[in-house]
Amino acid sequence: MLEKCGWTDLEDVGRLADRIRRRSFGDTITFSKNVFIPLVNLCRNKCAYCGFRREPWESDARLLHPEDVKSILLQGKRVGCSEALFTFGEKPEEVYPSVQRELQKMGYSSMVEYLYDMCLEALRLGLLPHSNPGVLTEEEVRALREVNASMGLMLENVGKRLCGAGGPHERSPGKRPKLRLDTIAYAGKWRVPFTTGLLVGIGETLDEIVASLQAIRSLHKKYGHIQEVIIQNFTPKKNTPMSSYPPPSFNYFSRVVALARITLQDDISLQIPPNLNPGKIDFLIRMGANDLGGISPITPDYINPHDPWPSLEVLKRAVASVDATLRERLPVYPKYIKKGYLSDMVAEVAVSLFDEEGFRRRYP
Ligand code: SF4
Repeated sequence: MLEKCGWTDLEDVGRLADRIRRRSFGDTITFSKNVFIPLVNLCRNKCAYCGFRREPWESDARLLHPEDVKSILLQGKRVGCSEALFTFGEKPEEVYPSVQRELQKMGYSSMVEYLYDMCLEALRLGLLPHSNPGVLTEEEVRALREVNASMGLMLENVGKRLCGAGGPHERSPGKRPKLRLDTIAYAGKWRVPFTTGLLVGIGETLDEIVASLQAIRSLHKKYGHIQEVIIQNFTPKKNTPMSSYPPPSFNYFSRVVALARITLQDDISLQIPPNLNPGKIDFLIRMGANDLGGISPITPDYINPHDPWPSLEVLKRAVASVDATLRERLPVYPKYIKKGYLSDMVAEVAVSLFDEEGFRRRYP
């Protein structure tokens, strides 16, 4: 029924979504304070909308070395971040011998091995890792859970069509929906608090949006580990095959946000990226969103470098305008701390960061 809603129904759908948000999350809107660590900007995939990936011969191709990572972590620690966000290209060592060589020089055989050690470094410095390394094997998920407070993988969309000829994922073997659903399921099996999401406006149909939301809901019903779902609007990037592809209309995007709130269970947090929706945050909260994601005081959004994070003051004002309060959380949601999802190693660090309700403890 929902997928057939016309635009005239947006107000009704929004009202329902807003009611669900208030029932589930009250008047609290959350965010987390992070440092963004783009370990490598090479990737085995070639998503047609991606402005982040580079080829090895480009002057700004980068594999961060441990000393670079440590320096970013220390800066984050100094300004009170709780989250070390490791987001980077998927398994570039599989297609680029230069990455393989660099990793070998550092003593690693894969990015996942390297990531593990960098997560350990973050924990040593008192930050909680949240890693987005792309699709993973079950063994990789099991290993990384030891050093991560939570992990993430955007489902993007379950529509196989989008991986076909001319589709945005045609040249991205890692974007096959089954592989991504499998990774999310492994995370469920190994009790990893998990973030996933949809990229909206890349040529999908509304039916495919609904099917994607239902797939996430089914996995959550089975494992109970989906802590948040990001509904992200596509924005065209220069020098990409989709640079002149139109972004989704705000009406369409708003409706997807509301559909997500209605389709997902009450206990899944719904996140929208505030830097991609300036001036519209209050409206999207009224469409059911209750989380504004990771905001960094020192590092840019490397995936969307031309869309700066809004200041906390701007966010507070937007949230206050819908009679809600902005509250800082950790990269792991309170429920999963209480349920004992964290490994001993991660829990040891987390305990000094959360308050009695499981949100971020106040700090000077
Ligand atoms: S969007 Fe992610 S997976 Fe796709 S090419 Fe860019 S870095 Fe790789």
